[in-house]
Amino acid sequence: MPTSPTPVSSECTQQQGSLPAPTPRGRLVVLTGPSGVGKGTLVNQLRQRHPELYLSVSVTTRPPRPSEQEGVNYYFRSREEFLNLIEANELLEWAQYAGNFYGTPREIVFQKLNQGQDVLLEIELAGARQVRQQYPDAIRIFLCPPSLEELERRIRERGQDSEASIERRLEQARKELDAQDEFDYVIVNDNLEQALQELEALLYPPSPSSKEQQP
Ligand code: ADP
Ligand code: 5GP
Repeated sequence: MPTSPTPVSSECTQQQGSLPAPTPRGRLVVLTGPSGVGKGTLVNQLRQRHPELYLSVSVTTRPPRPSEQEGVNYYFRSREEFLNLIEANELLEWAQYAGNFYGTPREIVFQKLNQGQDVLLEIELAGARQVRQQYPDAIRIFLCPPSLEELERRIRERGQDSEASIERRLEQARKELDAQDEFDYVIVNDNLEQALQELEALLYPPSPSSKEQQP
């Protein structure tokens, strides 16, 4: 939520330098890539190294997977509740994906950014496009699988989606892969550790002084 300056009463004498220095705004990072490419896995590992990075929890009408928890992985809502959130302008972006709605709660994202915290949105292509329109400064990263065959193998190995849902996700993946040039950075998630290093180097580049200390 944006903070407004405290009004100064006419009885008060404003003292120079009494206002706190403005907090630098955090960075808005958008991570997009086909379902099953490894976004969640990668982000979990990145957050273990950088717990200060705030991962936005989305709202969805998709039913929870057995391992998922309300408020941790998603806020699980009915279709009607989701449509009400759109109506009330409470979503920063939203999209339909594989037959369900997904959206980013607006207020908490701005609260964190205004507090100087970096915020990561793990969202699909249509949502990433909406964010680009509204926030051109967002850092947009596309995570790519080494091949469509490997993507399918990962979705199946995850074992969380029905056959129909897998088919929809693969169909959507082809469209998403075609749009990767729209992004500022593309990282191929072939070797997980390497992809993690690339993502970390991009978001947290070593400072020149720490480079100098290296042999
Ligand atoms: P997403 O969040 O993009 O839908 P997940 O993080 O759920 O994808 O990953 C899908 C599956 O792929 C999981 O079973 C995960 O363990 C596996 N996976 C992720 N990255 C790799 C990788 N580099 N190599 C092999 N398997 C991977
Ligand atoms: P899943 O059902 O596999 O959790 O997610 C399906 C797709 O929806 C993934 O590509 C995921 O990144 C995306 N997604 C998750 N949350 C949001 C959101 O808030 N907005 C948008 N646009 N996409 C989301």
